[in-house]
Amino acid sequence: MKQKPRESTLSVHAGELRQKLGHAVAEPIVQTATFSFENSAQVRAYQEAELKTRYEYARYGAPTQEALEAKLAAIYGAEAALATSSGMSAVSDALLALLGTGDHLVMTSETYRRTRGLCELFLSRFGIRVTYTDPTAEAIIASFGRRTRAVFVEIPTNPHLNVPDVPAVAAAAKRRGIPLIVDPTIAGPFNADPFGMGADLVILSLTKYIAGHNDVIGGAVLGRSGLMKQIREFHGTAGTLLPPMAAYLILRGAKTAALRMERHCRTALAVARFLEASPKVRQVYYPALASHPHHAIAARLLRGCGGVVSFRLKANLRGAERFLDRLRIFRIAPSLGGVESLAELVATMSYWDKSREERKRLDIPDDLIRLAVGIEDEEDLIEDLDQALAGL
Ligand code: PLP
Repeated sequence: MKQKPRESTLSVHAGELRQKLGHAVAEPIVQTATFSFENSAQVRAYQEAELKTRYEYARYGAPTQEALEAKLAAIYGAEAALATSSGMSAVSDALLALLGTGDHLVMTSETYRRTRGLCELFLSRFGIRVTYTDPTAEAIIASFGRRTRAVFVEIPTNPHLNVPDVPAVAAAAKRRGIPLIVDPTIAGPFNADPFGMGADLVILSLTKYIAGHNDVIGGAVLGRSGLMKQIREFHGTAGTLLPPMAAYLILRGAKTAALRMERHCRTALAVARFLEASPKVRQVYYPALASHPHHAIAARLLRGCGGVVSFRLKANLRGAERFLDRLRIFRIAPSLGGVESLAELVATMSYWDKSREERKRLDIPDDLIRLAVGIEDEEDLIEDLDQALAGL
C-alpha cells in the first residue's frame, strides 16, 4: 500500500498479524499464566538476549495483549504501547515509574477526579508535590519549577471540556526537558493527535471510545521506547496487567472505533446545538460550539470533539434529578464513550464525595449535567431530551 491506511482500515487491521495462530481471522485469546521453554539452552538464550522476542510469564507480556498494544501504537503513531488493567493503572504506572521523592508534577485542576485523587491522596505520601493549574498554556507553563519532572494534561478536560493549548505547553516543556503526559481519552481516537502536538507519553482509558461498548475496563500508556521501557518495568513489577479476555474485547471494539467516533461527534454536536437553543438550559459546554471559551483552540487541535456534552439546567438539584429521572433512552450512569447514551448529575455522581464548598470551588454547580452521547439516532436522543426538559 503506497499511502498510510486511513482510519477505518487502521481500526480494523492496524498492528495485526495477517496470519494468526491456527489461521484464525479474529485475534485468539491466549489464556495462559506462563509460557514454556523447550530446554535449558533456550532459557539461557532468552535471559541473555538484549531484546526479548518471546514470552516468559504473563505479567510481563502475552500475545493477546501484545496484539492490542500493536494496534494502539499504529493508530496513535507511537513507538511503543503498554496495555494496562484500567485507565487509572495507566496513570499510576506512568506517574509512579517516572516520579520520586522531591519531584514536582504540574497538572490542570480539572483532571479526571481519580487522577487528581491519586496525586492528592497517595503521591503526596511519597513526597511528590503537585501544582494544579488553570487549563491554559500560560498557567501550566507558569507553574514549571526547578524540580518539575512531569506535566500532565487532558484534552479536553471533563466536565467543562476545556482545551489546553498542548503544542504551546509541549514547546515549553521540551525546552526544560520535562516529559509531557497527555490524556486524550475524552476526545476519543482520531480526533486528537497527541504525539503530533508534542506529547512524550499518552495515557488512554480504553474503557471509553476504543472498547466502546460499556462492557470492559482497560487502559494503555503509549510513547517513546526509552520512557516506555521504564514504565513497562514498573508495570511488570506492580502487576497492573490487562487480562487476555479484556484485551480481546477491547481489540474487538477497536475495530469499529473510527466508525463509531464519527457518529458520536456528529450526534453530540446536534445535541449540543439543541440544548443551546432551549430556554430551560442555562449554559452548554461543548468545544465545537462557538460559545465555548476554548472553541478557537479546539478548532485548531481537534478534528472532532467527542461525545461528551455538559450543560447547566435552569433548575435546582431536585429539578435536575427530576430531569434525569424522566429520560427514557439516556441511562443514569457514570462513564462515557460507549454505544449507549448515558447521563449523570455531576454533583451527585462524580463529585458526591466533595463538600458543597469544594464543588463550588471546582465549578460544579448542582444543575450541571454531563451527557455521554452514544450512537443511537440523533432524532431519538433529541426527542428524549426534549420530553425530559418539557417536564421541568
Ligand atoms: N482518564 C480519563 C480522562 C477518564 O475520564 C477516566 C475515567 O473516567 C480515566 C482516565 C480512568 O479510566 P478507567 O476508568 O478506565 O480506569
